[in-house]
Amino acid sequence: MRSKNDEDDGFNDFLQQIIDMDHLEGAALGITKLVIEKGEDALSEKQKYVFQKQVLDEFTTSGCSRCGSDIPWSEMYDAATEHGMCNYCWHMTQKDD
Ligand SMILES: [Zn+2]
Repeated sequence: MRSKNDEDDGFNDFLQQIIDMDHLEGAALGITKLVIEKGEDALSEKQKYVFQKQVLDEFTTSGCSRCGSDIPWSEMYDAATEHGMCNYCWHMTQKDD
């Protein structure tokens, strides 16, 4: 089962990757650091709104554009910023034959 607050599902690594790639600044950066540290439940309603609009809406995609599967958090960054597909489909499209 996927849960955003499960420490082992890659969600925090995904957030850290967005920070490391210098995508965030100001309030969005501070809020994302807070989520990594304490989880999404620690945010105020206003912070949750910013996190949703400026982080999740920007850097996640609802599903693979090729097969429609959920994208795991470990693959989300590349899917959302690069090719829009799960790793499997992306590799499939990279093959020439
Ligand atoms: Zn796919």
